[in-house]
Amino acid sequence: MTEAIATCHCGAVTLRLAAAPETVTRCDCSLCRRYGVLWAYYPITDVTIEAKAPTDTYAWNGKNVDFHRCATCGCVTHWYPRARTRDRMGINARLLDPEVLDAAKLIDKDDAGTGLFR
Ligand SMILES: [Zn+2]
Repeated sequence: MTEAIATCHCGAVTLRLAAAPETVTRCDCSLCRRYGVLWAYYPITDVTIEAKAPTDTYAWNGKNVDFHRCATCGCVTHWYPRARTRDRMGINARLLDPEVLDAAKLIDKDDAGTGLFR
């Protein structure tokens, strides 16, 4: 496995991943389609978050996870579960180098229940 690094535009937030993602997920829910993100899911223990300043966060619906974004450049960087019992998180794969992203298989997730992705 090769380590992969995701960074926001200004470089204030760096996410070090134990391995490049094999799949990335495009979710059509009301939030993700607005963010325009592609998610790569990881065990929390496989991700090291290095932030030079506190990130801004947003939570909605059941507020089970916080969506983090760089306070300087505004890039959505990751989501992180609030419950300590949850052990997985999501990385915005758009922050990876393009060739790393291109190597991953794209999965469509119909979280909006539109039926368009299946
Ligand atoms: Zn930034």
